[in-house]
Amino acid sequence: MRSFVHQAPATRVVFGAGSLAHLERELDRLGLRRVLVLSTPGQAAAARALGERLGPLCAGVFDRAVMHVPLGVAIEGVEAARSQRADGTLALGGGSTIGLAKAIALETGLPIVAVPTTYAGSEMTPIHGITDGGIKRTGRDPRVLPRTVIYDPDLSRDLPVGISVTSGMNAMAHAVEALYASDSTPMTDLMAEEGIRALAQALPVLRHLPRDEAARSDALYGAWLCGAVLGQVGMALHHKLCHVLGGSFNLPHAEVHTVVLPQATAFNASAAPQAMARVARALGVGHAAQGLFDLARDNGAPVSLRSLGMAAADLDRAADLAAAQPYWNPRPVGPDQRDALRELLQRAWDGTRPD
Ligand code: NAD
Repeated sequence: MRSFVHQAPATRVVFGAGSLAHLERELDRLGLRRVLVLSTPGQAAAARALGERLGPLCAGVFDRAVMHVPLGVAIEGVEAARSQRADGTLALGGGSTIGLAKAIALETGLPIVAVPTTYAGSEMTPIHGITDGGIKRTGRDPRVLPRTVIYDPDLSRDLPVGISVTSGMNAMAHAVEALYASDSTPMTDLMAEEGIRALAQALPVLRHLPRDEAARSDALYGAWLCGAVLGQVGMALHHKLCHVLGGSFNLPHAEVHTVVLPQATAFNASAAPQAMARVARALGVGHAAQGLFDLARDNGAPVSLRSLGMAAADLDRAADLAAAQPYWNPRPVGPDQRDALRELLQRAWDGTRPD
């Protein structure tokens, strides 16, 4: 017998190869007449081309989005939106660009149209984050939830294989934690399992055929489901560890998720057997944590924190930080479990395959 409260945020999703063709229709639906197009420097050319296509519907292009939304960049983005009298933002890119759109929305209330080109999942969540002085502060606010998301797999055709795999593992991490979340529902369970399945089948194909249209579509479909559950239920140990490692030790976001996920899954396995069975079933393997480890390793992704450049001497401080503020997790974590977390981090640093 299960009781639950299910509330799905109201984001309109337009999915399909070539669906960027519907952008003007979607802007019109929202009554947007002057959007500020956002991108990273690496995607500036694509953002400018989109701006030109939009003509008068484009208020300008701001192409300085970077990872983890530094406060200075967020302020510049808000100033650009205000000075160019934008009535909304159009985020073309991954979690960094969508994160900038959210920071602008938090300050100005400007609605967001997101066109994700990675698998990170931010476009489906009301979670925002801004980094100041090396500390990333996150929160949830319905104002930052994109109004419309256009998922066009054609736009991820040139996403490098390495980023495709780690970004896909990042998405799967949302789904794994959703399956043992204290506020999961039958619907988030279905979405999470299907999201893992779709990505687990697509990533090995993309490793060898990065431009395979069906695999790009499947991966993006999986990313949508995984992002959606991230927006609907609370996250636990895995996300906390990645937050600590990314925020305090400046390690790359998607790679850290890739390395930590098998280890955090193994840590929680005995406390969440039903979730483990669903993860394993979605991966088509007998052991959830090993399956996640093998998926990363076999597709050329990093499996150790050492390979990401983390110093072994930092592991003690990382364990202290992870244990400092207890939070919900299927297996208790807090100051009393500090040594167990230190051991988990050691295994992640070494890149040990889970038992
Ligand atoms: P990213 O947005 O930083 O993109 C990684 C790199 O890939 C960038 O250089 C970008 O220019 C490039 N790129 C993106 N799409 C491309 C494409 N199709 N072709 C070629 N190059 C492309 O990385 P990410 O992993 O998508 O996002 C990470 C950030 O998102 C982190 O700051 C993380 O905290 C945040 N995030 C937030 C949420 C949330 O719910 N708030 C969820 C997941 C991630």
